Amino acid sequence: MGIASFFRWKRKETAEGLRIRLRFLGAAGNVTGSRHLLEFDGTKVLIDCGLYQERQYQSRNWEDFGFEPSSLSAVLLTHAHLDHCGLLPKLVKEGFRGPVYCTQATAELAQIVLLDAGKLQEEDAEFKQKRHRKAGYTPPRPVEPLYTMEEAKACFQQFRPLPFHEPIRLGPGLEADFHEAGHILGASMIRIGVCRNGRCRTIVYTGDLGRVGRPILRDPETFDRADYLLVESTYGDREHQTPEDTKRQLEAAVNRTWQAGGNLVVPSFSIGRSQEVLYYMNQLLLEDRIPHIMTFLDSPMAVRATRVFEKYSNLYDSEMSRLVLNHESPFSFRGLKLIESPRESKAINHIKGTVMIIAGSGMCTGGRIKHHLVNNISRPESTILFVGYQAQGTLGRKILDGEPEVRILGQMLPVRAAIVRVHGFSAHADRREILEWLKKLQKRPQKVFLIHGEKESAENFKTYLTEKTGWDIHVPAFQEEVLID
Ligand SMILES: [Zn+2]
Ligand SMILES: [Zn+2]
Repeated sequence: MGIASFFRWKRKETAEGLRIRLRFLGAAGNVTGSRHLLEFDGTKVLIDCGLYQERQYQSRNWEDFGFEPSSLSAVLLTHAHLDHCGLLPKLVKEGFRGPVYCTQATAELAQIVLLDAGKLQEEDAEFKQKRHRKAGYTPPRPVEPLYTMEEAKACFQQFRPLPFHEPIRLGPGLEADFHEAGHILGASMIRIGVCRNGRCRTIVYTGDLGRVGRPILRDPETFDRADYLLVESTYGDREHQTPEDTKRQLEAAVNRTWQAGGNLVVPSFSIGRSQEVLYYMNQLLLEDRIPHIMTFLDSPMAVRATRVFEKYSNLYDSEMSRLVLNHESPFSFRGLKLIESPRESKAINHIKGTVMIIAGSGMCTGGRIKHHLVNNISRPESTILFVGYQAQGTLGRKILDGEPEVRILGQMLPVRAAIVRVHGFSAHADRREILEWLKKLQKRPQKVFLIHGEKESAENFKTYLTEKTGWDIHVPAFQEEVLID
């Protein structure tokens, strides 16, 4: 082929390109606030509509979406974590009237999460108003919640639950289906098919990618083909421990604290992580490796979520199904108490001897965990056990980073408790696991976009993946727009 015909061919290819527009409107260069906009031939679809949780990015929750919400055809929702669904009420409030596609379990869990978020937003606004009144300050505009509980409820009508693998048509030449992600109950990866005049491309969005062999849930599905991938990179610079290491660390922390006579305080996300901690505690008890200490799941939201987990036993892996059949469910072992009322929560403080308290929020930014931290963080015999990711700027991160003193509920408290971190609990695949997952592709993809990771982690992961695969890997910046063909 001569140079002239090469350019002709090149021009023809461009003219026929699909011109799929992707805009990275959140979780680009950071972990939370997942929002990705896909546009094709006039159809606009938003993939996830998450809330920013890192303090330095929270103001973005209040900003314009960067597109007209009423112009969207649909939202595709991967799972019920707030950093993926938490801005749906705002989207609806600002004019989005289309369907929110997700799995049935995601729909149920997201409703629990969003109602709670609405309540927290209302409380936040009220707290600010009070502070202003006290200071005699009149803000230029009245302080309002990002959205209320009522506004959270309003978006539930737009949920359209779907089974895994059932394709939905989003617009001419545009389809999607959901695949198991193994991250939390109901969590999915989304495959999007785009076609025009016989030219077809497949885009796979991992959402949060789970791990092979994790308790309760089935393993993430794999794909043999994808032209473009949007891949999370939360732990793109790390490798996790094995489940046995995780169990051993938990066992050691429980036994040490029991001998010292303190409490175990476990800040935990209500959905997924809390149930996983219960799973491991149940196993250690069944294997007689820890004493029968009282275990409190002290979070109304976690309790409600656990009931949804119990309901969707069809999504369990074989090991979990066997436990339930044998009446050894991790959600009902001896010594476990599910706490909903504040009165029962306060009563935990009066119990003598070692107890484990699992409470939210997962990064210690609010909720009942703060009270339990106040009561335990300065006791050398107690243990603060981190089982989840702690974003920059959160109280959890400060404690984990070894600050000698932290402010909790208005008091400066010295940190004297043992601070233990158990990595293996992660519901996110590490870099080696993501590489293994990517290697199931039969053909080299055209491009891989690394999202949902702090900049450093994503960049490290890019280097790692480039070395291992030689593929075209890109870390998009916030609000970056790319055209793919
Ligand atoms: Zn998640
Ligand atoms: Zn996430």
